[in-house]
This record gives sequence, C-alpha cells and structure tokens, in this order.
Amino acid sequence: MAIQWFPGHMHLTRKAIGERIKDIDVVIELLDARLPGSSANPLLAELTAHKPTLKVLNKQDLADSAHTSAWLAWYNARPATRAIALDASDAAPARRLIDACRQLAPNRRGLSKPMRVLICGIPNVGKSTLINTLSAKRQAKTGDEAGITKQEQRIVLDDDFYLWDTPGMLWPRIIVPESGYRLAASGAVGRNAYDEEEVALELLAYLKHHYAALLDARYRLGLDAQAIGAMHDDELLELIARKRGAVMSGGRLNLQKAAEIVLTDLRSAALGRVTLESVEDFQAWLAAGQLQ
Ligand code: GDP
Repeated sequence: MAIQWFPGHMHLTRKAIGERIKDIDVVIELLDARLPGSSANPLLAELTAHKPTLKVLNKQDLADSAHTSAWLAWYNARPATRAIALDASDAAPARRLIDACRQLAPNRRGLSKPMRVLICGIPNVGKSTLINTLSAKRQAKTGDEAGITKQEQRIVLDDDFYLWDTPGMLWPRIIVPESGYRLAASGAVGRNAYDEEEVALELLAYLKHHYAALLDARYRLGLDAQAIGAMHDDELLELIARKRGAVMSGGRLNLQKAAEIVLTDLRSAALGRVTLESVEDFQAWLAAGQLQ
C-alpha cells in the first residue's frame, strides 16, 4: 500500500497563502536536501509561480553532497530561481538568505519599501529551527522587538528586509509511490501514517543499489556491493536484524525492531549521508507526466 497523506485544511492554507503572497517579493522554499523534489509542496508551486524563489536545500548535513550539488545546479538553471544548501550548524544564515534574496529581486534596492520575503516548507523540513536561529540573532540585537515579531510571525532580518512565516500547514507531494516511502523514511510523514517495516523494506530496496557500502559498514554485513544489491529486501532486513541482535524470545527475528533501527540510522545519518532521490529520478517522474 502506497503512503497517502491528506491534510484536512488544504483550502484554508491556500486562502491564507494566496492573501499573503500578493505583497511578497521573494519566496523562500525550504526543501529537504535528501529529497528536494518530493519535499516540495504542490500548492506552493501554483501560488508562487510568478514570484522569484529561493530554494533552500535544508539539512544538507544529512544529504549526499554530490547529489546536493547536482540539485543546486538544476534549480539554479531555472529562471527567477536561486538555490543554496543549508543546515542547522550554520549559526548565522541570515546574511546568505538576504544576499540570495537581493540577487533575486535586485530592483528593490534603494526603494523605500522593505523587501518582503515569505518562508515556506513542509513539516519537519527544519523551518522552526531556522526561524529560531534567525529570530534569536535579531533578538540579540533588538531585544524589545521579540514579542511583536513573534506575534506577527514576522522577523525583521535587516532594516529593510522582512521575513514572514507561512500561514497554515503545507504538505509534501506524493508523486509516485517511491516518493511517499522516501518521505516517510526521511521523517516527513507522521509515524501513524505508515508501517515502519514496509517503509524500511522500500528504503533498503533503494539503499542496496545506491549505498551498499554504507549498509555494509554500518551493519557489518561482510558483503560486497554486488552481493548486497542481489539480495531480496526481506533477506536484507533479516540479515540486519541478526547482525543487530533484533531477536525475540524463541529466536524469531524482530523485523519491526530492525526496521526501526534502519529508519533511525537513516534519519540521524548514523548510516552516513544519503540522498533519497536524484535529479534524474525526479526528471524521469516529470517526463512520465506523473506530476500535477
Ligand atoms: P519544522 O517542522 O519544519 O518546523 O521542523 P523543525 O525545525 O521542528 O525540525 C524538525 C527536526 O529536524 C528537528 O528534530 C530538528 O532538530 C531537525 N533539524 C532541523 N534542521 C536540521 C538540519 O539542518 N540538520 C539536521 N540534521 N537536522 C535538522
């Protein structure tokens, strides 16, 4: 069964963003660097079609840097779009965000109206963490403004640069079943919306072909990439269960436990830096006309 996630308040979010977007100069869209295509929100693409957009590939510390470079190049080749990679270890991201936005909307320079930027992203992409970092910096400079900016969901990043948080909640687009599974694996989908064992098996089906060496190193499988790639997904999960001692009384393997181990190792990067969809994967989905 494919992962499905239907938020109940889509129309409210659409209305709220639609209202706000009118005054916005640049949209910052936070994406998960591990799956930029699938962590995008379809409504946002529609509502912000005519706005300059900064794509922030967030959590880059968890993603495969070669893939991140490819994704950045792909986005940067689009009109009215810039892309940067970021993660929470950057203690002062404001300057990079401001500079990138100014490059996207240079004609605002010198105007008396401040630049207005809207920041958006699906849940768990790291938006609160980034906003906290940005507002903490500002708060340190102008402590008396903190209460007001919080209430208004507006952060004054520079004298003429205002950042607005998205009203409402955005959701990821489940383009193909794989993107649903990988979103679940990344942690973007609530735990009660999927079966961990099923998601871990789908994840292993991908990892065994793309990151066999990481699997071998993490779980001491003692196998080469070809042997790992040739294994059935169930067989691989069973082997991981044995290697990690996920065994129930009576000697039966605890596959649920093994699935949790694999998912936790992916999310914490204990497995290593992994990207879950490449530009090529995404382009293939686009070409197949599976995107709305
Ligand atoms: P939000 O739902 O988009 O507001 O996401 P949060 O800011 O609450 O972050 C979701 C989770 O991702 C939290 O556990 C954060 O600690 C973690 N997180 C946020 N940014 C990063 C990052 O750049 N790298 C890593 N590894 N984790 C991050």
